Amino acid sequence: MAHQVRAVVVREQGAPASVETVLVPDPGPGEVLVRVSSCGVCRTDLDHREVGGDAPFPVLLGHEAAGVVEAVGAGVTRVAPDDFVALNWRTACGSCRSCRRGRLWGCRAVRRADRPMTLPDGTPLSPVLGVGGFAEKTLVAEAQCVRIDPVVSPVVAGLLGCGVMAGFGAAVHTGGVGRGDSIAVIGCDGVGLAAVAGARVAGARRIVAVDADGRRLDLAERFGATGTVDSSRIDAVDGIRSLTGGLGADVVVDAVGTARTYRQACYARDLNGVVVLAAAPAPEATVELPLGDVFGRGGSLRASWHGDFLPSRDVPALLDLYLQGRFDLRAFLGEKIALDDVETALGRMRFGGDVLRPVVLM
Ligand SMILES: [Zn+2]
Ligand SMILES: [Zn+2]
Repeated sequence: MAHQVRAVVVREQGAPASVETVLVPDPGPGEVLVRVSSCGVCRTDLDHREVGGDAPFPVLLGHEAAGVVEAVGAGVTRVAPDDFVALNWRTACGSCRSCRRGRLWGCRAVRRADRPMTLPDGTPLSPVLGVGGFAEKTLVAEAQCVRIDPVVSPVVAGLLGCGVMAGFGAAVHTGGVGRGDSIAVIGCDGVGLAAVAGARVAGARRIVAVDADGRRLDLAERFGATGTVDSSRIDAVDGIRSLTGGLGADVVVDAVGTARTYRQACYARDLNGVVVLAAAPAPEATVELPLGDVFGRGGSLRASWHGDFLPSRDVPALLDLYLQGRFDLRAFLGEKIALDDVETALGRMRFGGDVLRPVVLM
């Protein structure tokens, strides 16, 4: 029996997101039906509305979600009805080459529910990143669920599905920042702020935040930046160097992803430093660097896919840090909104908007 729910759908490219009736099937083998409690609004949702994703329209938006398991399909062992779960779009298949080598965060054979959610006329929907969290219920693959402690608020748990993990992981996993290191983060949107917060948890000694917006720099200080560079007034590379003893940082995270910021990141790192590209660049972006400068600095230039994040490892770890008061997930939360407000939130995001996450409560 299909479940009739309210959900946020985009019918065609660029069309406004609207709340519609959607049919969600009962879970088949390996699938889980989740009653969504909350779902954060992310820039990726806006991108799916504006340009589409890798699946056709109509699209079911939302992917930073948490909720309660309502039913499970045959063979599901990881979760059971009434479990509280965070949903993820990154999954590990366990059998591809990356997984077999123990690099589960590099898995590209992601798991999704097979049965389609549809409009009432039977038109199949493409859930964003296989989640479709702006819905009263959604259908996902078992591997997309991580069971979590019900003492955690769902609005907090949902945050761990995307942007916070991308930033935290860019600093900690991809960049490898650790005790005594210095780090600079260029661009203090949600991902950049999470990189700052992650570096603090990891024990970085100096954390330099760079942005052209003073309000974002104030936020970065709240998240743990030990120094800030206002790039509307000071050259980012000079600013980072002056706050790192004239040397540059051990790790530089580019959370903007333009040729200009990437070049800044490359020149703001110390000898043997690591540059982490943590934002998806525009397809046409190119950067030219003297190879002598790349070689002469040693170290490495790395790209971070969603923070090299592994949900089964990282969701419980971050929630523990949160419950111990060492990682303030609540500080990433913006306003709480309803399903009907998603289009307004996306519109605001399009014009810069707030750094903190608006979250839909069901
Ligand atoms: Zn795999
Ligand atoms: Zn996202």
